[in-house]
Amino acid sequence: MASPFSWLKPEPFGLHVVPADAWIDPARAVDTALVTHGHADHARGGHGLTVATPETLAIMALRYGVVETGSTPVAYGETVTLKGGVKATYIPAGHVLGSAQILLEHAGERVIVTGDYKRRADPTCQPFQVTPCDVFVTEATFGLPVFRHPPIADEMAKLLAARQNEQGRCVLVGAYALGKAQRVIAELRAAGFTDTIWLHGAMERMCRLYEDHGVDLGDLQPVAGVPKAALANSIVICPPSALNDRWSRRLPDPVTAMASGWMRVRQRARQRGVELPLIISDHADWDELTQTITQVNPTETWVTHGREEALLRWCELTQRKARALALVGYEDEDD
Ligand SMILES: [Zn+2]
Ligand SMILES: [Zn+2]
Repeated sequence: MASPFSWLKPEPFGLHVVPADAWIDPARAVDTALVTHGHADHARGGHGLTVATPETLAIMALRYGVVETGSTPVAYGETVTLKGGVKATYIPAGHVLGSAQILLEHAGERVIVTGDYKRRADPTCQPFQVTPCDVFVTEATFGLPVFRHPPIADEMAKLLAARQNEQGRCVLVGAYALGKAQRVIAELRAAGFTDTIWLHGAMERMCRLYEDHGVDLGDLQPVAGVPKAALANSIVICPPSALNDRWSRRLPDPVTAMASGWMRVRQRARQRGVELPLIISDHADWDELTQTITQVNPTETWVTHGREEALLRWCELTQRKARALALVGYEDEDD
């Protein structure tokens, strides 16, 4: 009899599902990849076969400029049987459009690999679903007790107040093109903001993709070619890299804002020259991580992708079996 979970091997560039010869979010091209979501550190191109939700496959096609011919779309709640009889079920992770936890079933054992996840409501994607399992592989991007994300309504109120108070200026919000940008826009709409929201060119196609998948983002317009004066008292969304580059000179004296979980760390905001830090994260904070482990209540917790030590210590204190996985190549494109 094989030892428990020996069919799932952590290797430096990904989790290997041995009987299926498949890899989860592999950091290099493989024959069969099970992809949790579209962020670049999880979804790389060039695999022989990519198994992912239809939304994730659409995101990958947009980013890599290819229609993935070798792809198997798996809708939420659907189960596919892989080589070796391994079953894979895709379950909402609440992180970005199409993001999934992958439930693997083999030899009577159930393992969930979360990919990235959060527990807060997000109008742009389906909420995380608590699912029982034996092994829970959790991310730990914000795995320190100091990370407690504030309610997003507070951050939206700050953003709208800046727009109101800084007459003649605009507010320029740096946000990652996949997920964060659309969430900020959708939350602005939820807060009652109905004006045009202006987009940096790098944001447009992903926003359209969200709209094509039924996410209502209201009136969006490209900022290119619009006279400076027309942008006074407006909100403009751009990639973080554009916040302080020449591109932003076309805008009327922008208040620079940035939407990121890292804005909790003042030094990070200063480094980026951010005037208005908005603490908005698509990852679970400390309370969400510990709450999720408590609710899922697995036999073993495997921690990866971030600050593992504090979460391991918490598991020890709460008498939960846990280990860290040393996987490489997971940088936060997404925070
Ligand atoms: Zn992600
Ligand atoms: Zn990630």
